[in-house]
Amino acid sequence: MENENQQENKTKRFWVQCISDEILEKLSLKNRYKFLNLNLMTVLEPDYIDFLKQAEKFYMNLEKKHGITHREDFYQWIPEIGEAGLVTRVNKFDVIGLNYEPYGMVAELIRTISTDFFDPQLAMGMGATVLAVNPLLLHHDNVDVRLNALKEMVTGKKIGCICITEPERGSDAVHMLTTCEEQPDGSFIINGEKIYQTNGSKADWAVVYAVSEKNNGNTMGQFLVDTSWEGWKAERVNIYWTPRMHVGKETFTNLRVPKEYVLAYPGQGREHLFEGLNLERLGIVILNISEAWNALSYAFIYANMRKQFNQEILKYQGVGFPLADLWAQTMNLTLATIKICELVDSKMEKFKGILPKDVNLALGANASQLKSQSAKLTERVCYECANLMGGAGACDNTLMQDLLGISRIQEMGGGTRQIQQLLMSYALRRIFKML
Ligand SMILES: Cc1cc2nc3c(=O)[nH]c(=O)nc-3n(C[C@H](O)[C@H](O)[C@H](O)COP(=O)(O)OP(=O)(O)OC[C@H]3O[C@@H](n4cnc5c(N)ncnc54)[C@H](O)[C@@H]3O)c2cc1C
Repeated sequence: MENENQQENKTKRFWVQCISDEILEKLSLKNRYKFLNLNLMTVLEPDYIDFLKQAEKFYMNLEKKHGITHREDFYQWIPEIGEAGLVTRVNKFDVIGLNYEPYGMVAELIRTISTDFFDPQLAMGMGATVLAVNPLLLHHDNVDVRLNALKEMVTGKKIGCICITEPERGSDAVHMLTTCEEQPDGSFIINGEKIYQTNGSKADWAVVYAVSEKNNGNTMGQFLVDTSWEGWKAERVNIYWTPRMHVGKETFTNLRVPKEYVLAYPGQGREHLFEGLNLERLGIVILNISEAWNALSYAFIYANMRKQFNQEILKYQGVGFPLADLWAQTMNLTLATIKICELVDSKMEKFKGILPKDVNLALGANASQLKSQSAKLTERVCYECANLMGGAGACDNTLMQDLLGISRIQEMGGGTRQIQQLLMSYALRRIFKML
């Protein structure tokens, strides 16, 4: 039988209160944002700090307005977040009548970090919509249906996903088994299976990759798919580490894609896949450092307030020193990420929103370096911050449990740790050959 306290706490985030009122109050979103701002104000330009504060204000109001406990289905908040222009900032989106400022990868970092502090699983889910937005931005070719899909996703009215991974082709994504067959009217028929798509079972729009000849990456095409079409079936994959985020397994049975929805004809798809990978990895890097800052914000407040043996635990070297190390590592990786984001932004500005091939190629090693290190960092920082908080880090009173779960999958998605290492070792070989 539930007691009164447990019944009342159902409307709160937690089941049973374990952390004192005083500390719990101090762990508010507002105070955690303050910690973040004090750290970032020295390394970001004032315009970006203004945007950060604007996004934070939006999320604090959203939390208050709906009495959000972070147990809810977060997908319901996305239309409101889209109206506030916070689904993506990778572009100005003037092509669909928007005029976001600031925009670019630094702005995207700020958007992601403010979203992550509010709700880490929401931040990751929205990130997958951005993965579907990016190829459409590059390949809309002014076709109405594509521009419409782009606008619906950017403004949060619809959810997106990208379908690359297959049950039998994970790391070896290029040798796909899902087929696309051109029809006399120019449409394509897609057959096959995909798996582990973030948002897959929730998505309205999907960007699907398929080959006209099985196992031949040179015959890859890229298609925009409306998930309400006949022939699309999505089942939800259960991942306990991210219980509120939808991950899908999709089956395509004679799924017909009309001509206007073909983003890349067989032969061009592989290039489209690779052109998007760096930005996808950079997006994951941003997510990783956001999670690390989020965990640090909790542990920093908690360790400054929690007393044992009559002293705040931060004052013990066993707590204060490792926390200081995690803080330094997170800041260092943040600085490196900002540098790469600035570089991408300056190139995008110069080349009118499209990264030149040589820059994209050169960026590959940096994207792998940052992706592999930031995934390792977030797993360590989130675990260690929870550990330094003792039981308070393990129970459901804060978002630490979300951070612990989500940080454990970051080495897998967007190319596993081993694949990043493989790519980096190839790069080392290429550089050696230049000597
Ligand atoms: C939460 C989550 C979200 C995801 N979101 C998406 C998404 O939105 N869209 C999408 O298309 N996919 C998505 N993925 C899939 C993800 O990209 C794949 O899981 C990943 O590429 C690995 O594929 P796999 O799971 O089949 O593992 P496998 O490729 O079978 O790998 C198994 C193990 O073998 C190792 N390995 C494989 N090949 C080599 C090699 N050559 N050298 C050394 N080690 C190797 C891997 O590193 C791994 O440790 C997601 C996955 C997860 C877990």
